[in-house]
Amino acid sequence: MKATIDHVGIAVGDLEASLAFFRDVLGLELEAPEEVPSQRVRAHFLQAGEAALELVEPTAGDSPIAKFVDRRGPGLHHVALRVDDIVAALAELKARGVRLIDEAPRPGAHNSLVAFIHPSSTHGVLVELKQGRQRDEGWGMRNHSIQLGGLALTTLTDGYFRLDGGAMFGVVPKPLWEKRAPADERNRITLGMRPLLVMGPRLMLIDAGAGGKMDAKSVDIYALDRTRNLTHSLAESGHAVEDIEIVLASHLHFDHVGGFTTRDPSGEVRPTFPNARYVVRTEEWEDATHPHERNRASYLQDDFVPLQAAGVLDLVDGDAEIMPGVRVRWTGGHARSHQVVMIESGGRTAVFVADMMPTTAHIDEPWIMGYDLYPMETLAFKRGFVREAIDNEYLIFFEHDPKIAAGYIREKGRRKYVEPVLSDS
Ligand SMILES: [Zn+2]
Ligand SMILES: [Zn+2]
Repeated sequence: MKATIDHVGIAVGDLEASLAFFRDVLGLELEAPEEVPSQRVRAHFLQAGEAALELVEPTAGDSPIAKFVDRRGPGLHHVALRVDDIVAALAELKARGVRLIDEAPRPGAHNSLVAFIHPSSTHGVLVELKQGRQRDEGWGMRNHSIQLGGLALTTLTDGYFRLDGGAMFGVVPKPLWEKRAPADERNRITLGMRPLLVMGPRLMLIDAGAGGKMDAKSVDIYALDRTRNLTHSLAESGHAVEDIEIVLASHLHFDHVGGFTTRDPSGEVRPTFPNARYVVRTEEWEDATHPHERNRASYLQDDFVPLQAAGVLDLVDGDAEIMPGVRVRWTGGHARSHQVVMIESGGRTAVFVADMMPTTAHIDEPWIMGYDLYPMETLAFKRGFVREAIDNEYLIFFEHDPKIAAGYIREKGRRKYVEPVLSDS
C-alpha cells in the first residue's frame, strides 16, 4: 500500500475564529465549503502545498465532531492518507489485524471515498484513508429538473469533452486552477455539456452540445465522450426531437451547437429537431459564417449552415424576448456577440450563462478563458453580473461544469462561492 498525505483534519468549535487564523493570518486559500451528510459535518479545505488542512465544522449536535469538541475542545482530529484503491487497502489492513472503524468505504468530501482506522490500532492517531475521485469515472452527469414559477427547467447532457486547462483559465497559473480542475496527461481538463430544456408556453432547448458529427481525429483531440448523450438525455426527460419547438443558440461554437444538426447515413446534414425554429443572434451568424484565423476552429459550418438551407433559421437582433419569460442578453467577451439567457417567472430569475462563466471555477473575476476574443469585455460584464446575481439570488446554470449543473453565487466576506442546487454528486 502506497499512502501519501492528503490532509490534516482539525475539529472546529468556532469556524470564524479558526478562519481568522488559518485563512487570514496564514493566508491559505479557502475552498468553498462542502457538506458531508454521512458525517453531519461541513468541510472547509485550505490548500497548503501538496496537502491541505481540513477545518471540520459540525452541522448537528450528534455529529462525531460535535462530541469530540465537547469532550476535548477544538484541535487536531485526524490525518488523512490518500491511497489508490481503498477497498484493497482496507482488505490488506484487515488481514493484518488492524481494527477498522469503517469496514467499507463511504462517501467523503470532494466526491471521494473514505474510511477511518481505529486509533487503538494506530497508536492514538485517528487515520482516514481516502481514495480520490477517479477522473471521469462515475461522474455520470444526470438530468436535473427544477420549477421556476410557471416554467419547468431541465438540464440535459451531451456528455463530456476536454480542453486545454491553460486556455480554460487564461492568465490564472496552473498551480491555482489545477486544484479546481485537475489536468490529464495532455494538460486537458474535463468539461460537461449541459443544454437546458425550458418547458413554458412552448418547448425550448438552449444549446445542444457537440452532437455526433465529429470525425475520429477531433474526437481524440477533444476526448469527446458521448457515451451518454443528448439523445438519451432528452428521452429521459420524456421528450422526442420532434417535440422541440424552439432551439436557441448562446453562440455558434461547436460545443454548443454541434447537436443542432445531424448527418444522416447518406451523408446529408439536416436539422436534428425537425419541427423547431432555430434562433440565432444576427451578428453571431455573421461572425460564424465569416470566421478568421483566431476562431475558425470553433465555428464548424456544418453545425449551422444547413439550418439556413432548410429554412428553419430565425436571425434575431439585440436583446430580444424569445418566448414569454425568456430573453437573451448580450455579454460579448467570449465572442463579439456571445449572449446569456435570462429566464424569469414567478418573481424568480435563472440565467444560462454559457461561456461567460463556463464552470463554477470561473466565478472569480480574473478567471477568464484564454479563448475569449475580448477578455476585458468578459471582465466588465462579469463584474456587474456577479454582483447582480448575488443581490438578486439568480439561479445560475453552468453549461460546462462537469459536476454542478446549477447553483447560487454566494459571498462571505470577500470570498465568492457557488452553493450547488442541482449537482451530480
Ligand atoms: Zn464558446
Ligand atoms: Zn463552450
